[in-house]
Amino acid sequence: MYVKKFEDLSKSDIGIAGGKGANLGELTQAGIPVPPGFVVTAQAYEYFMDEAGINDKVMSILEEIDINDTKALQAAAEEIKKIIVEAPIPENLILFIREFYNELCQRVGEEDTDVAIRSSATAEDLPEASFAGQQDTFLHVSGDEEVIEYIRKCWASLFEARAIFYREENDFEHSKVYIAVVVQKMANADKAGVMFTVNPSTGEEIALIEGSWGLGESVVSGDVTPDNYQVDKKDNEIINVTISDKKVMYTNDENGTSVKVEVPEEKRKERVLSDEELIELTEMGKRVQAHYGEPMDTEWAFEKDMLFLLQARPITTLGGAEPESEDASSDLGEVLVRGLGASPGMASGIVKIILDIDELDKIEDGDIMVTTMTTPDMVPAMRRASGIVTDEGGVTCHASIISRELGIPCVVGTGDATTTLKENSGVTLDGKKGLVFEGISETKEEAVVAAGTVEAAPIITVTEVKANVSMPEAAEKAAATGADGVGLLRTEHLMLTSGIHPGKFIADGREDELIDTIADNVQIVADAFYPKPVWYRTLDAPTDEFITLEGGENEPREHNPMLGWRGIRRELDQPEILKCEFKAIKKLHEKGYTNIGIMIPLSQSPEELKKAKALCSEVGFEPHKDVDFGMMVEIPAAAIMIDEYIKVGIDFVSLGTNDLTQYTLAVDRNNEFVAKHYSEEHPAVMKLIERTIRKCAEAGVKCSICGQAGSVPHIVEKLVEFGITSVSSNTDAIADVRKTIARAEQKIILDAARKRIE
Ligand code: PEP
Ligand code: MG
Repeated sequence: MYVKKFEDLSKSDIGIAGGKGANLGELTQAGIPVPPGFVVTAQAYEYFMDEAGINDKVMSILEEIDINDTKALQAAAEEIKKIIVEAPIPENLILFIREFYNELCQRVGEEDTDVAIRSSATAEDLPEASFAGQQDTFLHVSGDEEVIEYIRKCWASLFEARAIFYREENDFEHSKVYIAVVVQKMANADKAGVMFTVNPSTGEEIALIEGSWGLGESVVSGDVTPDNYQVDKKDNEIINVTISDKKVMYTNDENGTSVKVEVPEEKRKERVLSDEELIELTEMGKRVQAHYGEPMDTEWAFEKDMLFLLQARPITTLGGAEPESEDASSDLGEVLVRGLGASPGMASGIVKIILDIDELDKIEDGDIMVTTMTTPDMVPAMRRASGIVTDEGGVTCHASIISRELGIPCVVGTGDATTTLKENSGVTLDGKKGLVFEGISETKEEAVVAAGTVEAAPIITVTEVKANVSMPEAAEKAAATGADGVGLLRTEHLMLTSGIHPGKFIADGREDELIDTIADNVQIVADAFYPKPVWYRTLDAPTDEFITLEGGENEPREHNPMLGWRGIRRELDQPEILKCEFKAIKKLHEKGYTNIGIMIPLSQSPEELKKAKALCSEVGFEPHKDVDFGMMVEIPAAAIMIDEYIKVGIDFVSLGTNDLTQYTLAVDRNNEFVAKHYSEEHPAVMKLIERTIRKCAEAGVKCSICGQAGSVPHIVEKLVEFGITSVSSNTDAIADVRKTIARAEQKIILDAARKRIE
């Protein structure tokens, strides 16, 4: 239990061996050549801390820290590390470690063999949480005394200042994060590098290999520009070889310590990998990918013609724009404005500042739209833009949601983009980091394309994975992900294709036209997903967003539209619009689209649900009998009174956490000044979410989520535990959400099985 050989570990052992250790175990078990070794488990660390009796002392120091006081944080980290380094290790644990190390030495036929000692952190509740790069690695350790000393240093590195800071920032409980230590025979590589088993930007089945002389550190650390090779996996054809000037390498000196040295002149421009070696690597890549069932990012080394794999992990950025955005930002010009990264990807173009809706025509294909805040009627111009920058807004504001759906990079909440950026100047924006740079970047094209690619993952989950759709033209792309339906069809934008305020249709006696506009647009979505369910949400029209439409002049000027006349309260005041919506859905049902359900937004009392259902009946469309009728939970009152709503009768509930968060925390989601206080993970919000899901589960009512929180993997994991029946997210997040759900479901099954065994 305290020490395990790689042969006895597999990828399900993250809780014991951490991600790195579990992975090495999995590779070893799969017969992939890996330098041999063992793992001092997370339980060994726990045992050490318990036996040494230092847990309370460490925790009490942590409780006192203000992580934003860098000096105090540093001092506390040093104090804790000292406590760990000075505490005695239980004798039996020392014996175990010695025994495993000596056995390793015998196996490789070397006395006091050189090993690498690496930390592999793991969290109790979130075993796959990423703590990469936060703890230490020590190379070329030899002899059992040194091995034990460095294992202890790894344990202590769990309390490096940056690791403490990270856990506090991400709400990980310090006492629930453990550390396993990997002890592995050093690979004394002659050449080494990395291999992606598919092209990470396009997903193409091409092995992308980078290699350089000496140990892999030079490639991984970026100290050298490595050779680059591409091999077509179908027929092992080498389709690209780019040889670079490799100036430095890492190698072992006579004491076995790794040192950076200059590459001898004659080898600098020499090709590192032969055709045979490339094919051997590609074949190994195929085996690794087949074993894991997904594309992998690996580290490899050749030592005297023997190929080893040192590391393998899934490619997390597939279908996203991350690699490009990292690289692209690094060689860009000055940062002109900063805001919140709202839709990932890089975009370059000419700035067009829109201060008035009449100026929208200025936006030509590929321009960067810069505006105070987008409104729904800007969508056609947004579509032409290659990037969007706003002064106002948070990551759940309208501009953010639509940009994500359109796959357009977007930065919101900059405060002053409309005054700082110059009309007609060239800029590049990084929609992940929330930065706008001076000048045009060459890399924009691929990045934007990558941001729009969607991965269809063949994973089956019991919890349904659905898509949020706001614009009919996004339906095909959303359906192509294999989503189990549409958990939120926002009505605002599809009504706006006409550019006319729905109230004006009514005032002009053109109800039929309004009904047709709604029905035609909803049909496109219902078609793309048929026969999977599509939940049509009735209009949630904030006055400030509808004011610019034709006929919108009469919208009241409200102090805070987010708390104002919107959602079902407004619809019940303007029942004619709501009735047209019900009639449109009824018309589609009559055409055979019985997969459409109705969902009311922003309800604060069960009375509203009763009234909405009565209006639906009034148009000859009977809730529950003719059509599924559900509601969104977006106001704390609705979460608290969910039992009362269930008594009135609902077929399903969907958690609108964008609004639920703003109303629980009193943080306007469109106000960048308070964006830092906006958090779906606030315990009060999570309590309301949990309560709603559990109450629905008890009553047998389906419960879903369609707010942005449903696109955040570690929140999704909790939702599955609470018993959510479906998760509806942005199209670009679906593949990740599906994987998270699958893992969470398996964890629940595994935990239950383990409990039975105990
Ligand atoms: C929500 O509030 O979480 C939601 C999905 O609705 P919207 O973002 O359209 O307000
Ligand atoms: Mg909402």
